[in-house]
Amino acid sequence: MNQLHKKLSDYYPEMVEIRRYLHQHPELSFEEVETPAYIANYHKNLGHEIREQVGGRGVVAKLKGAKPGPTIALRADFDALPIQDAKDVPYKSTVDGVMHACGHDGHTALLLVLAKALNEMSGQLHGDVVFIHQFAEELAPGGAKPMIEDGCLDGVDVIYGTHLWATTPLGKIEYNEGPLMAAADRFKITIQGKGGHGAQPHHTKDAIVIGSQIVQSLQNIVSRRVDPLDPAVITIASFKALNAFNVIADKAELEGTVRTFDENVQAQIQKDMAEVIQGVAASFGATAKFEYVPGYPALINHEKEARFLHGVAEKSKGIEEVEHAKPQMGGEDFSYYLRNMKGAFFFTGAQNPDWEISYPHHHPNFDIDERAMLHGATVLGNLVLETFKD
Ligand code: MN
Repeated sequence: MNQLHKKLSDYYPEMVEIRRYLHQHPELSFEEVETPAYIANYHKNLGHEIREQVGGRGVVAKLKGAKPGPTIALRADFDALPIQDAKDVPYKSTVDGVMHACGHDGHTALLLVLAKALNEMSGQLHGDVVFIHQFAEELAPGGAKPMIEDGCLDGVDVIYGTHLWATTPLGKIEYNEGPLMAAADRFKITIQGKGGHGAQPHHTKDAIVIGSQIVQSLQNIVSRRVDPLDPAVITIASFKALNAFNVIADKAELEGTVRTFDENVQAQIQKDMAEVIQGVAASFGATAKFEYVPGYPALINHEKEARFLHGVAEKSKGIEEVEHAKPQMGGEDFSYYLRNMKGAFFFTGAQNPDWEISYPHHHPNFDIDERAMLHGATVLGNLVLETFKD
């Protein structure tokens, strides 16, 4: 473990260089071209067996250890977001309206350099390492599912992954032996009322009033219908009904997201929402169309692998604290790997202690403390070495 940490520390400047290069050249989900080519080229130079266009745009590379043993997969995602980079830094995004605002550039940089370090230690490796570079994490249906369908987990015995987390202090690892991130679904409600003159409401079915009532009524599902011990969120994020100031809305479109951990709660909410939406619309003599699109399932760590991760992280250089995280309501398609394979996912603290403000993920000013990449790579690398020991 010390030898690996030494190598990673020596290569840290390269990690930063790769991360900043990717930060300047972000690509949107399902539109990644240069990034996977860059990744594939890096692994080619290391002499790794590689597969490109896995499940679409993914890259899978394999490092064969000198001795037989288990196969461990490590995953990093590489897509960016449709956000304008507002930071004033030399490595600012060069692409208008596109930005690595979730740290996936850091995930890629740390996994590539870890691949290089492990490659140099291959003579001591009792097993193989599969590097899964995933496209399109940010946009459901995501890249994980098609990559799995295209065989990225074939022959793999266990999988680990991390997310750099800008609101968790540097030096801290957060994980959970069980649920860590929520199922993330989306929905759209289209209300068809009857428009008319703003001065004659009695001749209309005001889609804005109906929509407002629906927004209010949906809030009662989580507070009155869901068991208070089951976490759930219903958020209406968009309410569209644009008209002149004196026109009553004919139509309104609402969009939002549902977050849950339990599949029964998820199904119940979908059913309850349909009932409430139809009921409210009917009470106004209007109609409503309800479209519900399931997204990523909840991310549930496997208990044994999560405990193993805890032990390894505690022994890893640079890690000051390992803590059980409260499950987050955010979504992550790493969940698909964990439905098919044992393993665990964890957060690597990337909050710079000197920053006055730590911008959250997906914010135009988002940034990470790059030293977190060294921590993430060290823990993932140590997971490999410790797994091969058993
Ligand atoms: Mn992310």
